Amino acid sequence: MVLIDSHCHLDQVDDIDGYIERAKQHGVEVLLAVGASRGLESNFETFNLVKNKDQIFCAFGIHPFDADQGLNLESLNELLNDPKAVAVGETGLDKSYKTPFKAQIELFLDHIELARIKKKPLIIHCRHAYKEVLQYTINFSEPIIFHCFTGSTEDLKQILSRDNTFVSYSGIVTFKKSEALCFTVKKTPINRLLIETDAPYLSPVPYRGKKCESWMVSVTAKFIAELIGINFVDFVNITKKNFEEAFRVNVGG
Ligand SMILES: [Zn+2]
Repeated sequence: MVLIDSHCHLDQVDDIDGYIERAKQHGVEVLLAVGASRGLESNFETFNLVKNKDQIFCAFGIHPFDADQGLNLESLNELLNDPKAVAVGETGLDKSYKTPFKAQIELFLDHIELARIKKKPLIIHCRHAYKEVLQYTINFSEPIIFHCFTGSTEDLKQILSRDNTFVSYSGIVTFKKSEALCFTVKKTPINRLLIETDAPYLSPVPYRGKKCESWMVSVTAKFIAELIGINFVDFVNITKKNFEEAFRVNVGG
């Protein structure tokens, strides 16, 4: 059984070996380290941290929150050619954040074009802009992964109307006020579902307030398996298969 953290940020982890060890102790053998978190720099920091580590994949991009910084994706070209790079992102649109929406759209379009050229999936950060994300990706044929999904069942229905779409849930589903989200989880086809931490943010209950680490995806996995009424091992195996399909990798196990 291989548990996978489909989305974490490692650029600010100062004890990477301990971090990976703690993950392994909880059966979390595979990580997807997302470089986009602080401009361009965090991509290079992430890559340097994990380039010699097995079973850690990467995604590279510029976070939509940084869309007004005048950065361009050119310098990520080489990183994206590395075999570890399995996706472009995270990118996307967020109407609830202060970064001008127009700048977010421009940067998002650049990511879509880059992913098209590199033939890689896109990892999407989306808040209150599902319609727009679908509109801009209508001709994009690689897989799309909606990370840390918190939309409504109506949003879910819309995004799943597109082929090749995966929905990733974080520790937010374990929060007390997440009844509506839990309902959406139950409506999610099991073969489209991924699990993640979004570490160092969003620790699941009962670890809220602590810095989130990838091992905690085991807590979220147990919670969701129980929620949807499926055996834990089966759930882990299905999400592993989904990860392999979404990111076109073979993680073994
Ligand atoms: Zn993230």
